[in-house]
Amino acid sequence: MALSQRISNLTGGGSDGWDVFIKARKMIAAGTPVVELTIGEHDIRTAAPILQDMHESAMGGHTGYAMVPGTDSLRDTVARRTQDRTGVPTTRDNVLITPGGQSALFAAHAAACDPGDVALYIDPYYATYPGTLRGVSAVPRAILTRAEDAFQPRAEDIAAACDGAKSLLINSPNNPTGTVYSVATMEGIAQVVRDHDLWLISDEVYDSQVWEGSHLSPRALPGMAERTLVVGSMSKSHAMTGSRCGWLIGPEEVISHLITFATHTTYGVPGFIQDASVFALNQGPEFEAEVAAPFQRRRAIAQEILSGQNTVGLIPAQGAMYLMLDIRATGMTGDDFANALLDTHHIAVMPGESFGAAAAGHLRVAMTIDDAEFGAALRTLCRFADSCAKE
Ligand code: PMP
Repeated sequence: MALSQRISNLTGGGSDGWDVFIKARKMIAAGTPVVELTIGEHDIRTAAPILQDMHESAMGGHTGYAMVPGTDSLRDTVARRTQDRTGVPTTRDNVLITPGGQSALFAAHAAACDPGDVALYIDPYYATYPGTLRGVSAVPRAILTRAEDAFQPRAEDIAAACDGAKSLLINSPNNPTGTVYSVATMEGIAQVVRDHDLWLISDEVYDSQVWEGSHLSPRALPGMAERTLVVGSMSKSHAMTGSRCGWLIGPEEVISHLITFATHTTYGVPGFIQDASVFALNQGPEFEAEVAAPFQRRRAIAQEILSGQNTVGLIPAQGAMYLMLDIRATGMTGDDFANALLDTHHIAVMPGESFGAAAAGHLRVAMTIDDAEFGAALRTLCRFADSCAKE
């Protein structure tokens, strides 16, 4: 039986970019220890008090169908966090609770794009983006950024790609580059979006992980609240990746349509997960800073190690839990380097190519292991790059 184009061509016919990761997992399963710097998952687990609250909620009976848009209490709490951080008036009617940010990305594009519409996104990109856009039968169009701009998008490049476009997807702080968009970048993006009458879908799941500069939500810029859909999540800010709880913030009318969409797709998020999310959010910004602190520490470790050599370049990592390393001086592709590093030293990193053409010749390193082990792996990586460059 023939499957739909939408499903059978979700990855566009190419690799989904996870080959090195899968190879590393197979090595581990076969008994070979591998230092894994691949996946964006904290090395701490969800905090015990959050789990305790989840347990109490479930034992208290919150195990039936929850309200499809999200519980009033979580929608209010998310609205308050958004308003506190951005100054943009936000109520529960601007908030849809979703099973993770990924589901919010999908819902946002379903709201913005009809089949065949062009959906713009910035390259390098989080690996699921093109597939998510194809998933709503939109036509993904990448806008390449440049390593020499530290991967800040240029407004003129976006403007040049707007023909036939309905939406633009951005992500700051960025996975995989660690770039935090400057005020000038955000204002440039907002201008193009208004000029070309686009929906802006702003993935802000790393908004609690900013090491340099500050996070500006484009929804706060003039004329943007009515055309911006913001994706958020408990995954990164509260180390709750497995709980699958995120949200979409947008104009009331969009949210009301997406509540209907949720009724026909996800049917909401478990009540005990939502209660635990309220509890977690009520721990305030101090708790979010505590969850983010190890990445800031490891970034400092990396800066020190990388400043002592010339072969591997560090793209200034301003936020998120990743480093982007430029290994073009070795003459190797990111793919070849990552495979060779895994084979030779049993260290797994993601090839830049997994995140788009603009990241070719780069590596993404997740700062998600213990400090000492992280430092040792980076030193080995640098020595390996040196030996490759000399060959
Ligand atoms: N956006 C970005 C940029 C991400 O890196 C991730 C997860 N790695 C997500 C969205 C989705 O996260 P979740 O579904 O766990 O909220």
